Amino acid sequence: SPRTICIIFLFIAAVVALMTIAIVQSKPISQKYKYGIVLDAGSSHTSVYIYEWPAEKENNTGMVRQLDTCDVEGKGISSYANNVSQAGNSLKKCMDKAKKSVPKAKHGDTPVYLGATAGMRLLSMENKRASDEVMASVERTLRNTPFDYQGARIISGQEEGAFGWITVNYLSDNFRQAKPTMGALDLGGASTQITFVSKQSSVSPENSIDFRLYGKDYQLYTHSFLCYGKDQVLKLAMAHQLETDEYILHDPCFHPGYKVNKSLGSVFNSPCAKTFDEPSRTFTHIGEGKWEECRNSIRKVFNFSDCSFSSCSFNRVYQPKVEGMFGAFSAYYFVMNFLNLTTHSLEESKMSLSKYCSTSWSEIKSNHPKVKDKYLAEYCFSATYILTLLEDGYKFTPENWNDINFIDKIENSNAGWTLGYMLNLTNMIPAEAPDTPPLTNG
Ligand code: AMP
Repeated sequence: SPRTICIIFLFIAAVVALMTIAIVQSKPISQKYKYGIVLDAGSSHTSVYIYEWPAEKENNTGMVRQLDTCDVEGKGISSYANNVSQAGNSLKKCMDKAKKSVPKAKHGDTPVYLGATAGMRLLSMENKRASDEVMASVERTLRNTPFDYQGARIISGQEEGAFGWITVNYLSDNFRQAKPTMGALDLGGASTQITFVSKQSSVSPENSIDFRLYGKDYQLYTHSFLCYGKDQVLKLAMAHQLETDEYILHDPCFHPGYKVNKSLGSVFNSPCAKTFDEPSRTFTHIGEGKWEECRNSIRKVFNFSDCSFSSCSFNRVYQPKVEGMFGAFSAYYFVMNFLNLTTHSLEESKMSLSKYCSTSWSEIKSNHPKVKDKYLAEYCFSATYILTLLEDGYKFTPENWNDINFIDKIENSNAGWTLGYMLNLTNMIPAEAPDTPPLTNG
């Protein structure tokens, strides 16, 4: 009957409509996501970070997540000063990995940025030409990928500090919820940064940065200390001690039983430590494992006495009193985590470190057969430096020591400057909070 035909027709129409909806909805998921890649060309190594976020929600903070990472084999790009073409080549494997992580259809729309930090700042001071060539070499490699190359540059210490602060607060969702922010402490191989919101108005313009994020103004204090990353400061400390005896270094910061012949050039090969006439001459580096003495020798690489401001951290640098909670990441985390000191009080950390430093080198090695000798030999020095920097340098006290959280990741994304850098360059954190959508409480 016409009625049955009509019902069958309606039924078919409904099925076709439902199938159309299903097909539209099952479009590849990748259509809905965007991607971005940032290379952190650090002093000791380069890491590639791949980020992903839902396309329609890019201005809602808290939406970007770290999809994948890749550690470039070998040393940092500044180590290729005498072999510049290899700087770019060293990145290829990780960029191939990135091609697999990002859906192929999205390659052309995926921005890629490279930021080089203090290792390259030092190389550009020492040898501008080599530094330009290294940057040109990495640029060639990145332009040769299917991604949308957006630039490779040496970022400033202020940028490194400020973007690290943006990263940790973005990942903690502090901007959207207008929660108190946390300060950022970053320790690299060649520089170290401290960044936090201070109520004290800054008397030193080079240490202040203002942001308007999500409808709120933030006045940041930030400073980056070049040469105070943990590898460069070790050179500074050793150079200081070698001033009294050029042939033998009895080092309180290395374990008893540690004895290695090194060239003077390995210490004095950086603009941070003053150069020596005979870089190939050797000296004997002998460990003594005396924590108190180690701390005293490290204190000598800081100038605590001169300050032309109301208050300073060290080396005549203005710093207001530290305020609020802090996230301490990169080498702060590697070192404190290795020594199980991330949740200790300051006093407990000192006691534990003193015992660790006095342990013999042979025992340390047999307790940690899998850890690289270079890292292993230096944990006593590095941790003593960290405590000295935080307590004597930045003026943390036993009372606010536990306001420092030693962190590696927040919500599965690494703490570091790269995410903040990308969010800024892609305008993903709006200055004003978006209007509250109707029918929600925001
Ligand atoms: P950068 O390459 O400038 O970002 O600095 C990273 C610093 O962390 C360098 O001093 C590295 O030697 C150090 N580092 C990286 N991984 C570890 C680790 N597992 N243990 C100790 N130090 C590390």
